[in-house]
Amino acid sequence: MSNPIYVTQPFLPPLDDFVPYLKDIWDSKVLTNGGPMHERLEKALGEYLGVENVSLFANGTVALVTALQALRIKGEVITTPYSFVATAHSLLWNGIKPVFVDIEPDGWNMDPAMIEAAITAETMAIMPVHCYGTPCDINAIQEIADIYNLRIIYDAAHAFGVRDERGSLVRHGDLSILSFHATKVFTTFEGGAIISPDARTKKYIDRLKNFGFVDETTVVGFGINGKMNEVQAALGLLELKHIEKALTKRKLVDRAYREKLAGIAGLRLIDRPLLAADNFAYFPVLIEAEYPLSRDELYEFLRQNNIFARRYFYPLISDFQIYKTMTKQVGNEYPVARATAERVLCLPIYPDLEPADQNRICELIRSGTHESPANR
Ligand SMILES: *Cc1c(COP(=O)(O)O)cnc(C)c1O
Repeated sequence: MSNPIYVTQPFLPPLDDFVPYLKDIWDSKVLTNGGPMHERLEKALGEYLGVENVSLFANGTVALVTALQALRIKGEVITTPYSFVATAHSLLWNGIKPVFVDIEPDGWNMDPAMIEAAITAETMAIMPVHCYGTPCDINAIQEIADIYNLRIIYDAAHAFGVRDERGSLVRHGDLSILSFHATKVFTTFEGGAIISPDARTKKYIDRLKNFGFVDETTVVGFGINGKMNEVQAALGLLELKHIEKALTKRKLVDRAYREKLAGIAGLRLIDRPLLAADNFAYFPVLIEAEYPLSRDELYEFLRQNNIFARRYFYPLISDFQIYKTMTKQVGNEYPVARATAERVLCLPIYPDLEPADQNRICELIRSGTHESPANR
């Protein structure tokens, strides 16, 4: 059997290139708490992303939790059921009730037309997700937030490096959150960041991620330990040197899929919007009724061939039992998100995906078209 192929694989520069960073850490004996690597990475990321105020975190989830705490969000927050579960979990960690709204027809993101009807006297914020790095309808969401005086916190975990004609996506909202988990486009093993609009907010967030300490004898708020350590930050610095090459390689994988999977009945490829810079973080396809296998049958068929595509995002967050109970759902809410969750499959995409492996994936998907599951 050929090597397993996972949905993603980190882009790791040669180990020898990482050793000097480790040596610096050993020499300085500073392992964490805003050391030199941490300081350099915050600055370098700010430059790369074109934003002023970056706060690094141990992971994206703690960043989300802290972002909500920093803006003192309580009550209810409107969000999307079509995301990774951490989006909604961050609300629960703050004692906030998630209110889910459906996604856009023919899209992946929260439908702005659904937001207004979900607003109550308790609503304090909107937490949209730039799903697969696809920009949300930022203007429409901002307009509603302005009318109802709501804050916006973007879960931009998928959007690293995505730019529209005016700059990085993470400049939007009251705060934007990134994840640098090993499965993301840019990684620090585990990691994340909050992008703040001003230095004052960044300073407050930096305190909250360090237990709320202002100085040795003063704390503000019940801050958490959300600090990124020096080894994490060092990997980030090294990764950043190779990010353009990694994104270019991802683009080629994306192109090859679009060529090789074109014209398969029932397999829908989704065009990306026109962007100044894309990150090719995911390659979602929709398995329609005309395809001979169901989405789950294709997923299994690929697994049997050692290819681990993923059903991002199935099930919907709102379908996990705790959320179902909490939001008193009966199970037919969010029809667009549900139909998408039942048809979507994210194919392997990463910079070092070998063309031969990609060809094999494409051939298997094509062969699914003349092989009924009963005959396998
Ligand atoms: C990865 C991810 C997160 C969580 O990030 P971690 O760094 O793994 O904690 C949050 N939201 C979305 C949409 C994600 O994909």
